[in-house]
Amino acid sequence: MIQLHDWLLAHGLIMYPSSPSSGSSILPAPSPVTLYPTPFPRAQFEKAIAAQPHFNTLYARVAADPEFLKNVMGPLMAADPDFTGRLWSLYLEAKHELRQKLSLGLVRSDYMLDLDAQIKQIEYNSISVSFGGLSPKVAELHRFLNRTEYRNKFDGSSLVASQSAEKLARGLYEGDLAYRRQQLKENTAVLFVVQENERNVFDQRHLEYALLSNHGVRAIRKTFKEAQQAAQINEETGVLVVDGLEISVVYYRTGYAPTDYADDADWELRLALEKSLAIKCPTILSQLSGAKKVQQILTDKEVLAQFLDPESSAVVSDTFVEIYPLDTSEKGQKGRKLALELPGKYVLKPQREGGGNNIYKEDIPGYLRSISESEWEGYVLMELIETPRHVNTVVRHSDVHAEVEIVSELGVFGYVLWEENGNILVNGAADYLLRLKFSNSDEGGVAAGFGCLDSVYLV
Ligand code: ADP
Ligand code: MG
Repeated sequence: MIQLHDWLLAHGLIMYPSSPSSGSSILPAPSPVTLYPTPFPRAQFEKAIAAQPHFNTLYARVAADPEFLKNVMGPLMAADPDFTGRLWSLYLEAKHELRQKLSLGLVRSDYMLDLDAQIKQIEYNSISVSFGGLSPKVAELHRFLNRTEYRNKFDGSSLVASQSAEKLARGLYEGDLAYRRQQLKENTAVLFVVQENERNVFDQRHLEYALLSNHGVRAIRKTFKEAQQAAQINEETGVLVVDGLEISVVYYRTGYAPTDYADDADWELRLALEKSLAIKCPTILSQLSGAKKVQQILTDKEVLAQFLDPESSAVVSDTFVEIYPLDTSEKGQKGRKLALELPGKYVLKPQREGGGNNIYKEDIPGYLRSISESEWEGYVLMELIETPRHVNTVVRHSDVHAEVEIVSELGVFGYVLWEENGNILVNGAADYLLRLKFSNSDEGGVAAGFGCLDSVYLV
């Protein structure tokens, strides 16, 4: 495995280890990867890529509709005042002082194949989507290994390269360009706002480097705490300056979980950045539009029709499975009954991102009974997607899991730039990510330590 190890280090397919105690003295380690790509039906792969601009449009329009979000999310904000509620209050505080009419999204729609080999959407992510930087390296790795003793049965030409790093960097550039044209400025930079003790630094660095080498746009990395020191916002114009550079786009790779905000000062900074003239990726509204509750509501055809024409509606809804609310509506009552009586076919999801938050199958009834009924509507109940299994060899740190059974989750990236009224200015798909988990584990987050990176070959 030395050869693999060296290749991963040489190409930056790496992460910091799981418990970094103090920053700079910690050495990165190779990311968990498979030795071989995993087969994926060509037509379904193409369908997922083709659906992306429609999803971009859908969620941009949702984010451009605060009244809708207020109605959907309102009850949850009360149930979850410390996070969802606080984000909403922040939006309310900012809304009369918003200086920037453009919003940028770097997004990812996640799918699994069902047993009829049709892609079904797991979730839509509107903030801090990860692995676009690392994913291209995995197909490159598989192409390399196929020319070594790890030669595989797949036909090299069916391996799908992912240019997600370059394409997402292009998305950031589109934001930067729009800002410069709007403000008649030159020499702007993109601010990456990042977590303290982030493990997945190199995923972000690959985007940063692509942004500079392909588009000549610099990026500045700051944690919330560092940005509090470095950010200067002109009270009159809202112009945001960090380390002497005017910021065109604030790109969040933090801020999606309650633990990302250490104290009130972090929340105040989020508010100040929201009100600044820089384009936010994402805005608070756009972050909220990615809530699982919104995903559930959009499975209603009539609601979907408020945002998309019939053609686009058909494209996106083709990937939907049943998702139930757990409120007191008719559908909610049905959801409650299913959750308590037939939990084996479902996953229960709170309004959280980042992995490790869901409750599965037989754990659902006990969990629901352990919380007060008034909290139930903060959750959605989603049909579990049963997915085909494959066999692959997984290398994680120094462990080799030879010929293990895995299941795959396809993520399709996108970027989208839109105006306050929901008018879309830039809309692109940005290639893919394939993650896997062991077929006996419920969750699949790579950074959370549950899964690993893979690539696609088309069959
Ligand atoms: P998070 O925001 O934490 O990433 P997800 O909705 O993506 O939440 O769920 C986490 C993981 O749980 C997914 O990566 C997938 O492995 C599994 N999962 C979620 N929903 C389903 C589903 N409907 N069917 C099968 N597996 C699911
Ligand atoms: Mg997910």
